[in-house]
Amino acid sequence: MRFYDIPGLKSTKEKLMHAIRTGNIAHAQMFAGPEGSAVLPMAIAYATTLNCQNRQNGDACGECPSCVKSMKLIHPDMHYIFPVSAAKGKTGKDVVSDSFIEDWRIFAQTNPYGTPNEWAVQFGGEDKQLNISREESRNIIRKLALKPFEGGYKVMITWMAEYIHTSAANALLKLLEEPPDKTVFILATNDHEKIISTILSRVQLMKIRPFQRDEIASHLVTAHSVEYERAQQIASMSSGNMNEAIKLITEVDDDVPAMFREWMRICFKNNYPLMVDWAEKFGKASRLSQKGLFQHAMTVLRESLLVQNGVPQNEWAVQEEQKFVTNFSRALDLNKLEQLYKIINTAYYHLERYGNPKIIFLDTSLQIAEAFKS
Ligand SMILES: [Zn+2]
Repeated sequence: MRFYDIPGLKSTKEKLMHAIRTGNIAHAQMFAGPEGSAVLPMAIAYATTLNCQNRQNGDACGECPSCVKSMKLIHPDMHYIFPVSAAKGKTGKDVVSDSFIEDWRIFAQTNPYGTPNEWAVQFGGEDKQLNISREESRNIIRKLALKPFEGGYKVMITWMAEYIHTSAANALLKLLEEPPDKTVFILATNDHEKIISTILSRVQLMKIRPFQRDEIASHLVTAHSVEYERAQQIASMSSGNMNEAIKLITEVDDDVPAMFREWMRICFKNNYPLMVDWAEKFGKASRLSQKGLFQHAMTVLRESLLVQNGVPQNEWAVQEEQKFVTNFSRALDLNKLEQLYKIINTAYYHLERYGNPKIIFLDTSLQIAEAFKS
């Protein structure tokens, strides 16, 4: 993984490359971003670039012996810590990252935007509590006591640092405070607020924003061979979450944007029988389609709001969609757009918490119809 392999996020990459170029290497760093963001790819790219022997424009070359090993996640000075559980017959002292490193390499290379649950499924530990244990912290201390094998930096990447158990955290504090020479800790997390303050206060925090629509779309085209128009549709359904976008490629066939346009027409006409029909259909759709419809709606509304505020937006690949967003932002004033956004945002919240989709959908339709009328 080089910076080049991560879509978009230009300013984050520039900051990190600049730090490496100028030798301004903080020894304890935290990369924090929401689910489906680039926290892990960014950590791997940073470590790879740090130890690259032949950097190109500030990025890793991808070809030197160090890069080749880094990119396969087998570099002897790059260590990985991640949450695990007692699976595959491992018990006691063996429930540590090293026991699952083979699975981890596959996961991190094929699914670097994945979630801890998906990781657990990969190594067969999904029915048990994941954590980064005190035993793990002993391993970390042992590993970092060794000199670097290859003369570069030793980098310890901890994925999902919010899983660090308090007892492990306490053992790590001293290391974070006074790390061995040429050692860099990178804590990657989806939820830095869950991390105890004694750790937080010892790291340099780098926030990584969710992906933008065009960044997701172009990644789906280049890395997953999705057609551009479809890639844009999927991007609008995934709220900046690359992991969800990648799943949507294979798991949702519906033309969600077309569904959204039709749904808005039904609400605009306040057609109650059709709303009931649609609620039935919605109730039977897959969860990803249901979430996708609401996320797409929020994307359209958010972008319509920005258009009204004079912020130029990326064009939509599909003419119809472009026209719809333009018309939408013209037909509805700021208040109304905000009102609709709130309605759908609340509906999405209830859907995520496993409310009844049919009831949520009908209720939302009625609220939208009401908002259109007022
Ligand atoms: Zn290199």
